[in-house]
Amino acid sequence: MLNAIVVISLLNLISHIRKVSIVFVILLIILLTIEATLAITFSTQITMGLFASIMETNRNEALGAIRMYSFISIPLLVITSVVIWLAYKGLKPKKAYVLISTILILASLSIGYGTGYVLMDKSQKAKVISDLKISYPMHFQSLLGIRFPLLTNMGFASIAYYQEMSKFRADLGKPKSMPMGVDLLVSSKTPNTLFVVIGESSLQTHYSLYGYDLFTTPFLDSLKNDNLLYYYNAVSPASITRDALSMSLSFATPLDRTPFADNKNIVALANDAGYESYWISNQNKIGMHDSYVGLIASYAKTSVFYNFLKDDLELIGTVKSFYNPKVKQVFFIHLKGSHLEYTDKYDNEDSAALAGNGNETIEYDRSIHHTDRVLKSLYNNIVMEEGSSVSSLIYYFSDHGEIINKGHGFLDNNMDQFLVPFLAIPYNLEIGTDEIIDKYLVDGRLNTTNFNYIFSEAIGYHVSEKAIKKAKNDGLYYYHVDGKTYLFNDIKK
Ligand SMILES: [Zn+2]
Repeated sequence: MLNAIVVISLLNLISHIRKVSIVFVILLIILLTIEATLAITFSTQITMGLFASIMETNRNEALGAIRMYSFISIPLLVITSVVIWLAYKGLKPKKAYVLISTILILASLSIGYGTGYVLMDKSQKAKVISDLKISYPMHFQSLLGIRFPLLTNMGFASIAYYQEMSKFRADLGKPKSMPMGVDLLVSSKTPNTLFVVIGESSLQTHYSLYGYDLFTTPFLDSLKNDNLLYYYNAVSPASITRDALSMSLSFATPLDRTPFADNKNIVALANDAGYESYWISNQNKIGMHDSYVGLIASYAKTSVFYNFLKDDLELIGTVKSFYNPKVKQVFFIHLKGSHLEYTDKYDNEDSAALAGNGNETIEYDRSIHHTDRVLKSLYNNIVMEEGSSVSSLIYYFSDHGEIINKGHGFLDNNMDQFLVPFLAIPYNLEIGTDEIIDKYLVDGRLNTTNFNYIFSEAIGYHVSEKAIKKAKNDGLYYYHVDGKTYLFNDIKK
């Protein structure tokens, strides 16, 4: 009711600024349609993470999502337009209404804010008070967002996003130091070539490698049977690409994101260790000044972006064109993997392998099968090149998981958003690939926020016991789309 009072009073205020009011009416219609679509299709509100994804996503991907839900968003747009337009037309601007509307808006917000606080339990109260010191929008969103789902969330999300990105830009020029407890050792046992394959929206529980009942990963299964790979129960530190990768590829963690700006990221560490670095991406290039992933990629000696336009299999050809076993190289290969919509993430060969028959997740499963073929192509065509005696190491993990047929980046605590595959395939290696990874497991689980340490150790850095202890503690947490940090153990099974 309070939210309705705010929206009606706002419309009333808009009607008083006749000349430009139509602009605000259209804006109101668009905002309400977006929020209603999100509420109906995903039972979610707009969050800062969702807003960031919309702002930074590739146009193809954004249009894909709109297309997917057009059967809901278009009728909603029509209904909202008619209702708001009729209400707007029916309003008779009177001076007195300006005062009344303003008082109603302020009173409603105050009541919402006050009751919101009173109804919170002790720990929630402490949390919103501490938010006040970090970020005003976050504090107000916690207290007002639930009571005023329409309009306020979009407002707070956009303010929080612009605050974060202006801090990001301000930090760009900062000198980057070595992370605490990480030192370069000279070792001859490091792999000659590393391949860091980053999947997209790939859910661990749909890999036959992890026990899924469809054969989605025949290649990985065969490596497992021959004891040629190590695979782990892993979780991602966040549920959207930008947050998850900024933590996996830099020393930022769910608890502390300042190392992203203060310390060297893993591409810079690879350069320092004498590797030629390459960033081969099937995702979009958002400039180094505009996104976390773009900034990390900008440290690579060579970067190529295909903006979701290539088949992931074609990326291996690009890798091959740069591959030179005579020098030390590291390739970061960023797939489009299993991102919505799934239909263009697989081909006929995947359909033939996984026929389906009314299985609701078959399209998603085929995209996993496709990624398995990408890894197979990398292994067979580059790593295993005939007679190759070069030492190599492939790491593969997904940026985050997926709630199949729905997506990711939702505020609900669905574990599927975080359950990811993590595996390592060593070839001709002297270092104990698994011994390194084992150090970072907590209760048998790896949080990919610690991939930076694992990678650093593999390329010859020494990580202190103290840093490992800290990393294991970091692994207990995830950073969510509301800009807050939570414990994985609090997610109900
Ligand atoms: Zn992603």
